Parts: sequence; C-alpha cells; structure tokens
Amino acid sequence: MFKGTQTRLTMQYSGLLMLFLVLFIIIVYTLLYMVILRDQERELEKLTRQETRIISNYLAESARNELRGLGSQELVLAGVDQFFYYVVDAQGNLVMGSETIPHLRNELLTLVAGWVPERNQIREETLTVTFPERRIGGEEVERPSGSDKVRLMIDGSPIFYNNQFIGMIYIGKDISFAYQLFNWLLIVLAGLMVLFAGVAVFLSYMMSKKAMGPISNAFNRQKEFVGDASHELRTPLSVMLSSIDAMEMTDGVEEDPFAQKLLRNMKLEVKRMTALVSDLLVLARADSGGVERSYERFDLNIEAENVIESLTPHAEANQISLHLHAPDEMNVMGDRERLKQLLYILLDNAVKYSPDGGHVTLTLEKGEKEWTMSVKDEGIGIHRDDLPRIFDRFYRSDKSRTRALGGHGLGLSIAKWIAGIHNGSIRVESEPEKGSTFTVYIPLNQTASTAKK
Ligand code: ADP
Repeated sequence: MFKGTQTRLTMQYSGLLMLFLVLFIIIVYTLLYMVILRDQERELEKLTRQETRIISNYLAESARNELRGLGSQELVLAGVDQFFYYVVDAQGNLVMGSETIPHLRNELLTLVAGWVPERNQIREETLTVTFPERRIGGEEVERPSGSDKVRLMIDGSPIFYNNQFIGMIYIGKDISFAYQLFNWLLIVLAGLMVLFAGVAVFLSYMMSKKAMGPISNAFNRQKEFVGDASHELRTPLSVMLSSIDAMEMTDGVEEDPFAQKLLRNMKLEVKRMTALVSDLLVLARADSGGVERSYERFDLNIEAENVIESLTPHAEANQISLHLHAPDEMNVMGDRERLKQLLYILLDNAVKYSPDGGHVTLTLEKGEKEWTMSVKDEGIGIHRDDLPRIFDRFYRSDKSRTRALGGHGLGLSIAKWIAGIHNGSIRVESEPEKGSTFTVYIPLNQTASTAKK
C-alpha cells in the first residue's frame, strides 16, 4: 500500500520538477533564439544603411543621377561578412554585385526581384546549394559534390538621388551558423533534460521515501497493535464462552427463563466478538505478511460439500436451499484452509442476504488456465454505488441490517486477500432485489513459490 503511494508521490514530485525544467528550457531557448536573431537583424540593418549611404554619397560627389554604368571598381562597399550584395537600377537591372557562391546569382536575383521592403522588414530564406565536384589536377578531390542548406537573412533599401528613386540595394547575410547553434543548443538542452530527469526522479524518490517513512512506521506499529490486541482478546473470550456454558447448566439458572435469555444473548455477542477478533487477526497477519500457508493439491469438491453441510442448518432455518454444481473431481492446488474459508464467506453471505425460500448455487469449474468458483444468490443484491466498496474493510451497505444479520464488514476483505494470495481475483455482478453472483478466478499453475506472500 505504501509502495503504491510512494510511487505516486515520486511520480508527482518528478513530474513537477520536470515541468519546471521544461519551462526553464523553453524560456532559455526562446530568449537565446530571439536575442541572437535580433542581433543579426540589427547588424544587417546597420550594414544596409551604411552601404546605401556610401552609394548615395558617391552619387552626390560625382553628380550622377543614375546607377547605370556604376562599376564595383569605382566603389568599395563596407560589408565583409555578407553572403551577397546587389545594386539594381530603377528598372531592376543589375548594376553591380557580388556573392559568395557565384552560381547562385540568378536564383538570388529572382528571389529579390521587385521586392521593396517595408519599414524594418527583413526576409529570411532557405536556399539549397549544390556543390559540383571539384578536382585538383586529376585525382585529388578538393570538395566532394553534395548539397547544403543555407539560411539567409535579406534586407533591402531604396537609393535616391535628389529625392528621385533610382534603384535598390539588397544585402544577404548567411545566418546558417545561428541555426546550427540553435540545433546544437537543442541537443545539449535535451541531453541536460534527460540527465536532470534522472536526477529529478532520484530526488523525488528520496523525498517521497522520507515523507512516507514516519507514516509507514506509524502504520506498522498500528498493525502490530491490532494483531497483538486480537491475539490477547482471544483467550478471555474463550474463557467467557466456556463460563457462560457452565452457567447455563447451573441449578437455578436452568429454570429461570430470564437468566437463560440473558445468557443466550451474552453467548451470541461473545461468539460474534470471537468471530470479529479472529477476522481482525487474519487481516492483521495478512498485512504483516506473517500468515503461514501450506500449499497442497486437494479435491475442492469435497471441501465444498463440507462447507455446504456446515451451512445447511442455518440455511434450512430460513428455508433457503443450497445447490452445488461441480465436476466429479476438482483437484486444485492451493491453501486448503484458506480456500475453504473463502467458500464459507461467500456462501454465508449468500445465505445471510437471501430472503426466506431463496436458492443459493455454488458452481465450480475448471478451465484451461484457471479454475473458478461462483456463488449465486437471489437475495437483496447490492446497489451500484456500493459495488466498488464492498471489499473495503468494515464496509457494509446497510449497517443496521447487516449488523442484525451478524455481519461486521470484514468477510469480503478476507475473501479478496485469499484470492490475492493465490494470484487470483474476485468479481461481483449484482442487481438490487434480484441477486448477486460472486466469482473467484484462480490460475491453475499454482505453486508455493508463485503464490504471493
Ligand atoms: P458482512 O460481514 O457485513 O457480510 P462482508 O465483507 O462479507 O461483510 O460484506 C460487505 C457488504 O457487502 C455487506 O455488508 C453487504 O452489504 C454486502 N454483501 C456481501 N455479500 C452480499 C450478497 N451476497 N448479497 C447482498 N449484499 C452482499
């Protein structure tokens, strides 16, 4: 039980830590992305402004009102790390320009043709560059052929002469390195995240362990207490029972109907308390894993007949008939006493919650992988809201009614535990006022070592 809570706590703690980590990484990445790209944009804008100014100054100095005929020899532009620069006249004809990869000129010119950027507008483009294989003197390969993606940031600015538009300058900057940086950053951050995820899980595990420690200790002490108390209560209860028996037979009491009635009631309550104490003891031992179990092969059919026989007087008193449907021989592997107890609990409940004249049927079946026992009654049934809780300790759907019938709400918890130690399960189908069917499924390959401790 504590293991489950601890795992849940670990998952919640580490989930929370991871959430913060992911948020942190997203914020750091976005900030870096924005800062680096913004920085590149500012640099490009500055460069474009600078080069536009150089051209304008040159035109003013040499009193030219058109760009045509301008040669790169006459003008040295300032940009050093630009991927390309093109100066085009008002008609869009290239006047001067240069690029890092010459065979891209046409592609680049088509890209910017006719583009007049709005204020502060900067474009980003991705180009696929193919390198032809270049050989130096016969065999030696200088650069293998291949293709690469180039990310470009492009800015443009109009050129005026005496307030008259005479052309455009376009400048492209290679920002592939920035994207490479982002990719690397992403890989590094992802790596860090995996690392921190491990650390987060470890830390959460330690934290939840620390948090659960005192609770689990207190629970263990309480379990021990319930176990010890139930054990200690058994002896005085059996002494009381035999004392009542002795008192009933005492002269004077035998003839006194009132005293007889009192003793009968006392006996009933002591028996009920003994049953409760022994159920508590079973559960307390089950919790601490201290129940001894013996696994053996036996005929469940015979045990079922015995249980039915022991319940028959009680059933007959209420005109309830008990039926058994089972194969002639039903050899199973398991803890004989516990499985008998399980049968007893289910049949006793079926009788308890059946109206007078009802029928209770026990069916035993052996399948290929599991065997089943199912107990069907035509009794009061269980409300849908109560179904998920009836296996909880001390849960009774109708407290006053079940108490009057002698129930204290521990039977089904024990039944579930017995099915569990055989790696099996127990399921219930029920409809109020129509009846209930409890079915227990136990796997056939049952050995002492596979059974849960
Ligand atoms: P109890 O000793 O009260 O019978 P159990 O743990 O055996 O305790 O059962 C829990 C509750 O489930 C009961 O109080 C009852 O309300 C309901 N229940 C169990 N078996 C049946 C049944 N065959 N028909 C109707 N209700 C049942």
